[in-house]
Amino acid sequence: MAIHDPHSFPGRLIVVEGIDGSGKSTQLSLLQTFLVSEGYDVSFTEWNSSPIVKDTTKRGKKKNLFSPTTFSLIHATDFADRHERSILPPLQAGLIVLADRYAYTAFARDAARGCDPAWIRNLYDFATRPDLSLYFKVDIDTAVARITGGRIQLKFHEAGMDLGLSPDPITSFRVFQNRVLEEYDRVADEFGLTVLDGGRSVVEQQREMRKLVKPILKGLRRTHAPRTAPASATLHATGTR
Ligand code: ADP
Repeated sequence: MAIHDPHSFPGRLIVVEGIDGSGKSTQLSLLQTFLVSEGYDVSFTEWNSSPIVKDTTKRGKKKNLFSPTTFSLIHATDFADRHERSILPPLQAGLIVLADRYAYTAFARDAARGCDPAWIRNLYDFATRPDLSLYFKVDIDTAVARITGGRIQLKFHEAGMDLGLSPDPITSFRVFQNRVLEEYDRVADEFGLTVLDGGRSVVEQQREMRKLVKPILKGLRRTHAPRTAPASATLHATGTR
């Protein structure tokens, strides 16, 4: 079976999932600020950030050298490295680990790129099962509007351009991310991810996220006294949608 059963580490593992533009990073960052202000020690890790694969990924992406299988193996290598260095040690030390994307990203994206779902699950068999996995579900129009609103061009792989679906990045993004969305639905059912409506305002989602996180913090040691909430940790801060 892919992904181990609930772990026995003193820490807590919270992961966010969703297609690009779903708003998961925004929510995780707000949660981090909140948890720190509540007195918890927090460690953050994100997808594809391990130094051991960085250069290879950069070079391979630039020249579009990777087949879906190689891409999948590189992501699994990144994950294995971070799992050992950045996820397990803080969990063993009693910290809250926040992960921006987890193995579920591979289950959804690599399957959308044509890799065999059973093969991908087997690759990530060593992964610790999170205490809470939140899936921010948005439709493609919302994701495209957010991404193109914030920057000029869609990234090549994020738009699935390596698959030759369309020469137009936005069309390619729509087709590819629709496939990813279908896979995410399957993954959410299979692994019991908690589905949140990512189309709502930042504030509404953050409120729900904190409600969902609260029960899993029971019994967790705080390392410092809660601070008086700074503006960034409150949900009425001006400018926060
Ligand atoms: P992801 O990590 O899922 O790719 P981000 O959190 O980076 O998404 O958000 C993508 C863009 O959408 C950013 O410009 C962000 O400010 C904006 N955004 C995030 N959440 C919302 C929301 N609920 N409503 C409107 N815009 C949002």
